This record gives sequence, C-alpha cells and structure tokens, in this order.
Amino acid sequence: MTAAMRILVVDDDATARIWMRAALSKAGFAVTLAVGGEDALRQFRATPCDMVMLDVDMPDMSGYDVCAALRAEAGELLPIVMVTGMDDLQSVERAYESGATDFIAKPINWALIGHRVKYLERGYQAMLDLRAADARNAAILKAIPDLLFELDAEGRYVNYHSPRSDLLAAPDETFVGKTVAEVLPAHAAQACMTALQMAQSGGSSTGQQFELVLPHGTFWFELSVSRKSNGPGEAPNFIVLSRDITERKQAEHSIRQLAFFDSLTGLPNRQAFLDRVDREVRRAQHNAGQLGVLFMDLDGFKTVNDTLGHNAGDQILQAAADRLRESIRPTDLVARGTDEAYAEVELARLGGDEFTALILDIKRPEDALAVAQRIHHLMRQPFVLDGRQVMLSASIGVALFPNDGADAATLLKHADTAMYHAKELGRDNCQFYSAALTQTAMERMDLEALLRTALERNEFSVVYQPQFDVAAGRIHSVEALIRWPHPLRGLIAPLDFIPLAEETGLILPIGQWVLRTACADAARWMRDGYPLRVAVNLSPLQFKDPKLVQMVLDILTETGLPADLLELEVTEGAVMADNPATMAILTAFRDCGVRFALDDFGTGYSSLSYLKRMPLSNLKVDRSFVSGLPDDSENRAIVRAILAMADSLGLSVTAEGVETLEQAQALKTMACNLLQGYYFSRPVPAAAIPELLTRRWSLDAAEPQRASASRLSVEV
Ligand code: C2E
Ligand code: CA
Ligand code: CA
Repeated sequence: MTAAMRILVVDDDATARIWMRAALSKAGFAVTLAVGGEDALRQFRATPCDMVMLDVDMPDMSGYDVCAALRAEAGELLPIVMVTGMDDLQSVERAYESGATDFIAKPINWALIGHRVKYLERGYQAMLDLRAADARNAAILKAIPDLLFELDAEGRYVNYHSPRSDLLAAPDETFVGKTVAEVLPAHAAQACMTALQMAQSGGSSTGQQFELVLPHGTFWFELSVSRKSNGPGEAPNFIVLSRDITERKQAEHSIRQLAFFDSLTGLPNRQAFLDRVDREVRRAQHNAGQLGVLFMDLDGFKTVNDTLGHNAGDQILQAAADRLRESIRPTDLVARGTDEAYAEVELARLGGDEFTALILDIKRPEDALAVAQRIHHLMRQPFVLDGRQVMLSASIGVALFPNDGADAATLLKHADTAMYHAKELGRDNCQFYSAALTQTAMERMDLEALLRTALERNEFSVVYQPQFDVAAGRIHSVEALIRWPHPLRGLIAPLDFIPLAEETGLILPIGQWVLRTACADAARWMRDGYPLRVAVNLSPLQFKDPKLVQMVLDILTETGLPADLLELEVTEGAVMADNPATMAILTAFRDCGVRFALDDFGTGYSSLSYLKRMPLSNLKVDRSFVSGLPDDSENRAIVRAILAMADSLGLSVTAEGVETLEQAQALKTMACNLLQGYYFSRPVPAAAIPELLTRRWSLDAAEPQRASASRLSVEV
C-alpha cells in the first residue's frame, strides 16, 4: 500500500480523540475523527478509510451498533478495532459478536498504541494478500481446460477441478475420498500411480498416457504431476493435471496411417507389409512355423486404366481391396462346413495393381492355395463401373517360408517371380515359387475335393479280410478295410487317400461311415446265424476325437451289434503318447466290452511297461516282420519276442501279411495262433464272408488247401 493508511477514530471524548490522533499520526497513519456513531457513519461514507477505531461507550449510538452498521456497509474485510473497558469481558465478547476484528482495552497506553495498530495493519495486509492470491488462483484454474486433481500418496482424491465433466470417469462429486484404483480402470489407475511414484522421487513427472473409454467416446489423457509438500513429517500430496490429448493421438494415428497405409485402399503399404513379414518370419523361426507370401496382380488392369481412365482404375483397385478383405473373412469357411482353424491373413497393396497377402501359420502349401482360390473366385466376378461391367482376373504367385526364403524381401521377390510365371502360363492361375510344389499341391487339392464329393455321394465301400484261427482251423474274425472305387480314376488305394483325409480332418466322417457299415454288416451276419467279430481301423485323429467313445456306442446301439463283436485297431503311435486321455478312452472301451488291438505292432517304440498299463486285447504283428519268415533269423527273433511279451500280458497276437504256406507254418510253430494275409484270403466283399465261414483250414497239407482258399478269395 503506497498511500498512508487512513484510520477513522470514533470517540465522544474529545481528549481521547486528540491523544489518539497524535499517537496515530506519529506512527504515520492518516486520521479522520468522528465524535459519535452517526458522525462515524457519515464520515466513513464521505472518506473511505482502511481501519476504524471505535469507542464502545457513546451517547448517541452504542459502539456495537456502529460496528454492526459499518460491517454491513463495508463488508467483512474492514478491520474494526473496539476500544473497551479494561476488565469488561462482557463488552469484549459483545464486540466480537457485532463483527469487530480486534479490541484494545482502556486505559490506553499512548506510547504503544501506534505500534499496536502497525501490527494490526500487517496482519490485515497479509489477509488481503491471501485473498488476492486466492482470487488469482481461482482465475487461473478457470483458465485451465484440463482436469486437475490433488491426490494423496496412496492415490486418494483430496480435491479436484473438472471444467469438463464429460471427461470424468465418474460423477465428480463422488471422487473425493476414493482412490484412483476405485474410480479408474486398472490400466489408467496404474498409469496414475506410476506418475505419482515418478513425482515422488523427482518432484514432478510428465508423459504418462492412458486411454479411457467414456460413455460418449474413447479419450486419451496425458498426466503431469507435481509433488506438493505438506506439513513437516507428513506425506506429500500430488497435484495431477490430466490433459485430454485425444486430438493429438488422432493426428499421430493419421500420420502413421500415411506412412504405413495406402490411402486409396486403406490397406497396409509395402513398408508396413515388409515389416510385418519380417516380424512373422522371426516368430516362425522361433516356433518352426510356416508362412505363405502371396503376390497378386490383376490381369487386364492396365487396359482398363488406359481406356477408362484413372478414376475408373482407382475404383477397381478399391473394389479389389474389398474383395481381398472379403476373401479372408472367416465366414467364408463356415460356409464350407469345416471347423479347421481359419488361417490368419495380412493384406497389403504394394502399388499399382499389385497386392500381397501374408498367410500365417500354414500347415501345408494347400492352405495358401486355398486362399489363392478364394481370391481367384472373387476377382473373376464382374466389376461394375458406372453401370458398365468389367471382367478381370488375378495372377497369383506364392512363396513359402522357410522353403523359398528366410526374410521378407526374398520371400516377396520370389512370390513376385512365381506370379510372373502364373502370368506366362495364361493368367488367372496360381503358381508356387517351387514348380514341383505347384504340381503336388494342386493334385492334393483336387484329391481333397474328390474326397469330399465321394463322402457326399457315398462312393466308398468296405471289404473284409479274414483272420484265421490256426488251432480251430477256421475264421476267427474279419478286418474291415475301406475301398474307394472312383468312377473315373479306378480303385484308389487307402494309402493314397487316408493320409490326406487325416490331414484335412475328413477322416472323421469317413471313419464313422466305415464303422457304421462294418457294424451293420457284422450285425447282419449275427442275425443270419454267423456271429463274427469285426475289426475296424481307427486313425490317430479319430482316436483324439473327444466324441469317439460316444460315437462308437451310438453306432453299436443303432446297428444292434453287441460290443464284444467289435474290435478297434489303432497303430502303436496313436496310443503310446503317455497321456491320461488315452488311458481314459481305452478304459471306457474295455468297460463296455469293446476290444482294442495295437496295429502294425513292432514298428513303434512300445515298451513292456507301457503295454502293461493299457487295457488291450490283441497285438497285430506288422507285416514287415512276417515277410522274412521262415528264413530271416532277425524277424524270427522279433516275432518270438512279441509272442513272449503278449503271452506274459495275456494278449492274443495276429500275424499280418501272411503270403505263403511257409510263413504260416513258421508262425504256427512259434505258437502264433491268429494269421491274416493273402495266403488265406484277400479282402473280400461282405457278401462273400458267410461262405468263407463254412470252410475248414489246415496248414498240414500244403498246396491243395491253399488253392481252395485262394479260389474263394475274390480279389478287390
Ligand atoms: P492295415 O490296417 O495294416 O491293413 C492291412 C493292409 O495290408 C491292407 O491294405 C491289406 O489289404 C493288406 N494286406 C493284407 N494281407 C496282405 C498280404 O498278405 N500281403 C500284403 N502285401 N498286404 C496285405 P489296405 O486295405 O490297402 O489298407 C492299407 C492301410 O490303410 C491299412 O493298413 C490301414 O492302415 C489303412 N486303412 C484301410 N482301411 C481303413 C479304414 O477304414 N480306416 C482307417 N483309418 N484306415 C484304414
Ligand atoms: Ca489294421
Ligand atoms: Ca496293420
């Protein structure tokens, strides 16, 4: 305050007024005098002053009333000092109630009064400064568009400033007293606490960002935090400024978009694609995966562009990009009725009419071919431009990781080469970088398609090969074997299609069909008076199918075949995995009476201890050990060992692939009682079985019996 502070002295006693003026003037104050209450109010209105010294006891108006009137008129800030009697406690109390700021007791020490008022002035000034600072802070806050919080060290809201309540995660009045963890989603609360910890150690922190989904949109926030010390020994609080940076994020996004995306189609551009391929190559290297890089070029695009103009060209490219997206949509596959996992595909536009696709996690080259076929199909549909139809097609090249390259640039280059090859071959086709692969992959795709239709059209059949009981001299049981007499390709052998059926999962419906057919045939033989056990092969994939047990039981019920007339054959490899599920399946089958045989036994690594734990009935000695009999001593030793092992486990043994009398006799000598092979009978149609059942066999006499046996065997 530059001008001297003006004090209004109110007293009816003239002497007191004079002394007071003298003392205050000496202390440097300007003084106005009033002789009573009315006069005081008048003077105050005429000359505004900064402080009032007010005598309590005045004839016209009591000091209290004057005080109350001044307070009402001048507001709460005006310091009013009451001059009261020395020990008059009551008047001190009343002065306080009427709004006085302070009091001075009589008798007044005139030497000190000036100093006393200076002290008062300083307190008053401090209060004014505080008020001003508050007002400035309030104004600053009003100007800050960001959310501002004060948090304690635990992240608990102490107070807040929220100019935009639309940015709050919860209604603002509910914040105080809660922690950020209670109000915000975990990732945002975590960002806050990290910022607090940084500010705790460094005094301030900036840059923590988080995304928040609010009712009217998704927002990004960035935090600036400063530590605010509290009283000595107390934990500090933190002032947290939470800035809405959504727009900045959007700008960053569009910049990235421009750098990594093609603006015409919205697809990733070459750079983004190469980056992605390199990343995926590293991942695939790590977990021995396979990738396909597919390079597509639109046939005939250049002509359209040249004749119909760039605008038309752009429209076609956009439509082509849409079709590419369409081609990798999972729904596509659902329509095909398979439940195999859909390949994940990343698309890109390299420029011009060149597009690429990265196919992740492919199991076989055909997976890439399948994607290419869908793309071909979609690109062949007419493009419509201003009511005019344009026909195009696509040439596609495919390079595979790891076979065709170990980095993005090489894979892309080789896919490009393969695409040129496809163009040379007359467009609208797909080539692998490796020409041999194109051939086999195409064949397998064709075969797969044929398999599907064979299943739909019921083209398969089942034949039965007898297993002979040497001691009894007659048929013991039969093994069901699938046949595929293809209308155009002739008989396709199981080994030429079972592996593909296994890979594509088609073995599940095919295997089910074989089982149903075999059970139905066996049930008919039983009803006709020839009860005969039938053995059915299960593929490893079927064995893994959780619905297997139920499926088998359903078919037994449906066909009326007793469970003990069914034997299931699985290869050693399918069951030897030391797996509780295997044991559960085998036990379930044993409990309901279905027998189990290990097929191709001796080719795997089954140990005696493994076999001991498994509820099996039969071991089928692989044909390769039978073929060397009777001369090959190693084969003899193996068959003997298998027989001894089976004997100790109480299992029966069937020798497979018995082609000669000598083999059969050698096996009989080794006490192998069940024999199967061309020597006895080739697999025959169901209708031929009853006849075979009436036959009796003996290995003692040689040629004549063999001749009669093979006469009966209808070759299929
Ligand atoms: P496998 O289970 O070991 O079946 C025996 C195979 O040996 C049959 O071949 C049979 O015709 C053949 N064979 C029988 N006796 C002789 C012989 O004396 N000499 C020779 N060289 N071969 C003989 P097939 O029918 O071609 O079946 C081949 C394989 O295909 C089967 O081997 C089996 O693993 C699989 N398979 C056949 N039918 C089915 C089926 O319905 N489901 C499943 N999952 N697999 C099947
Ligand atoms: Ca078998
Ligand atoms: Ca076998």
